[in-house]
Amino acid sequence: MQYFSTNHRSASVSFRDAAIIGQPDDKGLYFPAELSTVSDEFLASLPELSNEEIAFNVMRPYVADSLPDDVLAEICTETVSFDFPLVALNENISVLELFHGPTLAFKDVGARFMSRCLEYFARDISKRPVVIVATSGDTGGAVANGFADADGVDVVILFPKGLVSRIQELQLTRCGSNVTPLEVNGNFDDCQRLAKTALADTDLGSKLFLTSANSINVARWLPQQIYYFLAVKQWKDVEPPVFSVPSGNFGNIAAAVLAYRSGLPVRSFVAACNANDVFTRFIRTGSFEAKPSVPTISNAMDIGDPSNFVRIVELFGGDTDKLRRMIASYSISDEETAETIRSVHDRFGYILDPHGAVAFAALTRHQEFFAEDKGIVVETAHPVKFDSVEKILGMKIEAPASILDLEKIPKWSIEIGTSYQTVKDILLSLES
Ligand SMILES: *Cc1c(COP(=O)(O)O)cnc(C)c1O
Repeated sequence: MQYFSTNHRSASVSFRDAAIIGQPDDKGLYFPAELSTVSDEFLASLPELSNEEIAFNVMRPYVADSLPDDVLAEICTETVSFDFPLVALNENISVLELFHGPTLAFKDVGARFMSRCLEYFARDISKRPVVIVATSGDTGGAVANGFADADGVDVVILFPKGLVSRIQELQLTRCGSNVTPLEVNGNFDDCQRLAKTALADTDLGSKLFLTSANSINVARWLPQQIYYFLAVKQWKDVEPPVFSVPSGNFGNIAAAVLAYRSGLPVRSFVAACNANDVFTRFIRTGSFEAKPSVPTISNAMDIGDPSNFVRIVELFGGDTDKLRRMIASYSISDEETAETIRSVHDRFGYILDPHGAVAFAALTRHQEFFAEDKGIVVETAHPVKFDSVEKILGMKIEAPASILDLEKIPKWSIEIGTSYQTVKDILLSLES
């Protein structure tokens, strides 16, 4: 499979090169030259297939020229080695729990798949591969964990000091020896600026092989479609489901749409947004206007210019009318998010995290117009990861034992200011 750039200026490349390069020079995003089509037999056999077999079949057309089957099978086994349960709350609403991975967030799947691909590809890169990632919390933890002790790959994580949750800080500062956590005295924008400057630094690029681990990378983006097949595997109703996906950079929902365009039965999608409503406005008006982000309690979705928007447009062949018929979008305020966490706990005894709560509230609004549609709320993180949930519910939430074990490991991070030179010196010290 070849991958072209959505800006059509950079050359098309293989999966391997797309995964190594991350983003093409023309600042587009890599996109598969063809979409795979899943067979009716495959769809009919979903309930009998193992999660590993489903992952292998879904991913194979996209990676076959770069990963031998035995390597892909092993990567898939390690990528989906935890549960993805679909929990019914009532007749019309189920929750797809994507938080049973090692860092309790859906990003574990993409990060694990990507890390193992890079580990495999790194064997024939002459410069030292270094993955750099700026995070507001979840991405960094998933990437650090995914790459823990990956052979021959270093990871540098930039996160804003004091602005991640207690659990996220534990996950970011108790990492493998190949991971360097940089605790930045600044905000997420500072972290992102430092990472971008490093990625564009040609002097650094001549010494290290620097790449980023955000959802721009096809090796992180593509495996996210697996969840949607695993959800349909567990879906009992004859009518296909509506998926309500809490969206920030729109990588997850773009992968869901990719699964649908490959033949997965889906009724429609709801792009659930917080106050960062660029996409909601686009669905309403047809025009896309990026805005500066505003902070919310579902902070992994505080993005004012979602990079995967171009992939969603591409998935509909540029037909934005068709896109707007298939994807609804609602913007949910922090008050409504908190109220949803309280009411879902009261009604069902179920604890949502703020991101899942945005998706629940958006699905509920959708069902006011489409009462017949049965929906799946995509729950992207465990509620214990966000300190706000305990405050909203006025109760303590138990952390899984694996997380509490992290408290026994001594904290390690390097505290830095916002000067780029410090980051550069640290990166250069990794050269070997
Ligand atoms: C990253 C993240 C999201 C947003 O996913 P995108 O692919 O960026 O749209 C939603 N919820 C949680 C918990 C996340 O960590």
